[in-house]
Amino acid sequence: LFDELNVEDVYDTPAGQQRINNLIVKFEAKFGEQPNFLVRAPGRVNLIGEHVDYCGFPVLPIAIQQDVVIAGRTDETDRKLTVSNADSSFPEYSCNIRDVQVKEVKWYSYVLAGYLGISQRINTLPPGLQVMVDGTVPMSAGLSSSSALVCASALMAALFLKEKSLTRECIAEVCAKAERYVGTEGGGMDQAISFLGVKGKAQLINFNPVRCEPVSLPDSVTFVVANCMVNKWKADGTDFNNRVAECRLAADVLATKLGLDWEKVQKLQPLMVARDMTPKELLENVEQHLHSGVYTRDEIVDILKVSDSTFASIIGKSSNEVFRLYDRAVHVAGEAARVAEFRRLCDENPADVQALGRLIDESHDSLKVKYNVSIEELDNLTQICKGAGALGSRLVGAGFGGCTISMVPKEIVDQFIFKVWEAYYKPLNVSEEEATSKHLFVTS
Ligand code: ADP
Repeated sequence: LFDELNVEDVYDTPAGQQRINNLIVKFEAKFGEQPNFLVRAPGRVNLIGEHVDYCGFPVLPIAIQQDVVIAGRTDETDRKLTVSNADSSFPEYSCNIRDVQVKEVKWYSYVLAGYLGISQRINTLPPGLQVMVDGTVPMSAGLSSSSALVCASALMAALFLKEKSLTRECIAEVCAKAERYVGTEGGGMDQAISFLGVKGKAQLINFNPVRCEPVSLPDSVTFVVANCMVNKWKADGTDFNNRVAECRLAADVLATKLGLDWEKVQKLQPLMVARDMTPKELLENVEQHLHSGVYTRDEIVDILKVSDSTFASIIGKSSNEVFRLYDRAVHVAGEAARVAEFRRLCDENPADVQALGRLIDESHDSLKVKYNVSIEELDNLTQICKGAGALGSRLVGAGFGGCTISMVPKEIVDQFIFKVWEAYYKPLNVSEEEATSKHLFVTS
């Protein structure tokens, strides 16, 4: 019945089989016939390397079981793309396949983006399709539900355009670009791990071009996700895009004032090696240049190529605002170094889980103090997780709410989960069952 793409894992459990059966029943009730394909793309949790992918630095995520599955059938007669959701609270959308465009930020825009990304890449229109989306990745919680949706949709479009050049790495890059149609200027981590994740391993993902190396994690620990159940990001993505723009500006200041070209600055680590600079020396230089106030407002606007109003929200008018760039650069350089060290420890000294935990804690501190993307609830939850026995705990994803990830010794995971429920979720009237089914879970 099905062309199975990435869907095997879903059938691993009776609950997974039940889910697919329910999806097929709903699909048939809606479209009058059974689907003739299923595609799947997982969400992710990033172990370390937050807010660095869009600066070109490697990251270390794992794919998670929570995913987006799309059931669909071809509709050659109608030449329409009709997008529905197994959760009927999401409105249906339909248009002619020639008119697929991302015009607004709606749930189905991510599906349109994936479809459009592939059709533009291959320069051919996939056929008309009737599709139904069924997602289990918690939304806006730092686990990349939106990218899973884009990736599943791109996979669906690619299914019909059997173009040989479409490797997994290539589709991941197409999806990273396509997701920007919806409005956020993300890097490529989420899409890369969705296509390149491997069971039981983390992946060190490099960019430009996307490539990955599997990394074995220490046997003695497991990673637990806990959702603080709050989200304070601005829905239009400006908080996120401002961070991206700040980093572009910081990189450009580095490039111009240190006389280094843009490409090299995007890869601070090799650069530091080439110039024999420590990260501290490099950043001291940046600080000097930022404090010297050499740039005029107009020059910065020109470098950034952003609108005046965006610029005002990034830089403001005072030089204090400009110093913020220094903190952003400190985070990016420091986090990139932590990724490299984390990977080195996993390869060479996996027994040193205390050191791995410290890197995770440092990542959270840097995201909080230098990058200003934490909130009280996330700080509180990471502290609770540490108190419950985590070796390290940090916010995961873009921040301002959503999930934390904690590295926990395997032998205490059950107690850890109970303690976190008792301290964080119980006072919010969330039952243990609800917490452990939705908000607090072990990754595998
Ligand atoms: P995330 O970190 O989860 O990607 P975003 O806020 O960037 O957070 O994207 C979440 C958005 O993606 C949702 O508001 C919704 O529009 C869309 N989305 C993700 N998964 C689904 C789904 N299963 N069904 C409908 N929309 C979804």
